[in-house]
Amino acid sequence: MTREFGSDFGRSRFVPPAAVVREGTDGTVEDIMRRAAASGRETAVRGAGRSCNTQTLSPGTVLHNARGDAEPRLAAGGRLVEVPSGITWYELETWLNRHGRANPVLPSFLGLTVGGTLSVGGFGLGSIRSGLQADQVREIELVDGTGRVLRCSGEENTELFRFALGGLGQVGFLRKAVLRTVPYRDAARVSRIEHAGLSDLVAFMPRIAAEPGVSGYFGMYDRTSWYAQVSWAADASPEPPEQSVPDYPLRLHDEVGRHLSPLLQGETHTNLWADYVLDEAGLHTFAATLEPLLDASPLTDTLVSLYFLVIERPAPAAPFVFAPVLDAPVLYGVGVFASAPRSDDRAVSATRRVQRRLLETCAEAGGRPYLYGAHDLDADLLKRFYGAPALHRLEELRAELSLTHFNRRAFGGVRPPAVQDPSGTAPL
Ligand SMILES: Cc1cc2nc3c(=O)[nH]c(=O)nc-3n(C[C@H](O)[C@H](O)[C@H](O)COP(=O)(O)OP(=O)(O)OC[C@H]3O[C@@H](n4cnc5c(N)ncnc54)[C@H](O)[C@@H]3O)c2cc1C
Repeated sequence: MTREFGSDFGRSRFVPPAAVVREGTDGTVEDIMRRAAASGRETAVRGAGRSCNTQTLSPGTVLHNARGDAEPRLAAGGRLVEVPSGITWYELETWLNRHGRANPVLPSFLGLTVGGTLSVGGFGLGSIRSGLQADQVREIELVDGTGRVLRCSGEENTELFRFALGGLGQVGFLRKAVLRTVPYRDAARVSRIEHAGLSDLVAFMPRIAAEPGVSGYFGMYDRTSWYAQVSWAADASPEPPEQSVPDYPLRLHDEVGRHLSPLLQGETHTNLWADYVLDEAGLHTFAATLEPLLDASPLTDTLVSLYFLVIERPAPAAPFVFAPVLDAPVLYGVGVFASAPRSDDRAVSATRRVQRRLLETCAEAGGRPYLYGAHDLDADLLKRFYGAPALHRLEELRAELSLTHFNRRAFGGVRPPAVQDPSGTAPL
C-alpha cells in the first residue's frame, strides 16, 4: 500500500507515507483536513498520481482521492455537470456520452482525476477552441485546514478560484467542480497531416489556429514521424479530406494507454516529462533551442515523444495565478516526454539537465511551465514565472487557511519564502 503511494508517475523519488487516508473510511473530508492541520504533519492529496515532480508524496499523510464510485449530476438542462473531484475523465466522459453530452476539452489520456487535472490546468485537442479544462469550470468547492467549505467561482471567492485552478491544491482540497458540457458527437471528422520536421510543424501551428473550421488539434513526433491530427467542425470542408472516427477521445485514450503501457504500469523508468507553454514568438525561440537537442545525447536515447497543442481561451479568460496561461491571444504547448531507466544515473541526470535548459529557455521566452511536469524549479525561476507578489500572497493565503503543511511539494522541492503568521510573530 505505502509502496504505491510512496512514488508518482515521475518515479524519481520514493517517500513512503506514514498513513494513507480516504474520505468515507477515515471520516469526512472536513474532519480529515482539520485533523491533518492540527497534527502539524505534512499532508498531500493524490488523485491518480500521474504527476512527475513528487507533488503527491508526503512522509506524513496521503489523502487518496481517486474513486470509482463518484457520481456526476447534470444541471442547467445538461449544459453543466457537477462532479466529485475523484472521478476520472474516462468515467466522466463515458457517463456524459450516455446522457448525450461531452467534455469540451479532454486530455489525451483519460486515466487522470478531475481534481488532479484541474489542479494543474488541463489541455487537450479541444483547447484550440475552448482553452483549458480549468476554463470550463463554473464553480468549485474547496475545503481548508479548519474544515471550512468554500464555494469559489468567477463571482464568489474569486481570488481563491484563481489560485486553486492550476495551483496544485495549495489553497485547499478541491472536493467538487461544476463543469461546462457540450452536445455529444458520436464521430469526429479527422485529417492527418504529415510534417517534414520540427520547423515545418511549428510553422503550421499558427496557421491552423487561424483556421475557423478546426475544432481540435494536436501535433506529434513519435520518433518515427512528424504529424498533426486535425478535427473539423460539422460544417467545415477540410483539405486534405478527413476520415470519420467514432468516439475519438476514447479512441485516442486507448491508443495512448497501449503505447505507454510499459511506462504507466512498470516501475523501471524515471519519467522526466515536461510541458512548456509559450506565445508565438516564444514558440519559435523554444523550437530553436529544442531542435539541435533532438539529435544529440541524451534525447537520442531517452526521448519518448514530443506533443504539441494550440490553446485559444474563450474571453473573458480568468487570470489563473499558477496555471500555464499567458497574456496572448493564442498559446502553444510543447510537451517533451523523456524516460530513462532508473538504474542509468547518467541518462537520468543528462535528461534532467536538458529539461532544465528548456525550462530556462521557457523563462527567457516569457513562457510558463505546466506544473505537473518534472521541472527543476528554484526560488529564482519561481519568481521569474509568477512574480514575487503572487508567491507572497500564496503563502499568506496558506497561513490564513491553516494549510501551511498541506501539499507542500507543489513546486517539487522548492517553496516560496515563508511569511509571518497572522499574529505577526514567528515565521511559519
Ligand atoms: C500519460 C499521461 C498523459 C497526460 N496527458 C495529459 C494531457 O493530454 N493534457 C493535460 O493537461 N495533462 C496531461 N497529463 C498531465 C496530467 O494532467 C497531470 O499529471 C495531472 O495532475 C494528473 O492528474 P492526477 O489525478 O494523476 O493528479 P495527481 O498527480 O494525483 O495530482 C496532481 C496535483 O494536484 C493535487 N491534487 C490532486 N487532486 C486534488 C484535489 N482534489 N484537491 C487538491 N489538490 C489535488 C496533488 O496534490 C498534486 O499536486 C498527462 C499525464 C500522463 C502521465
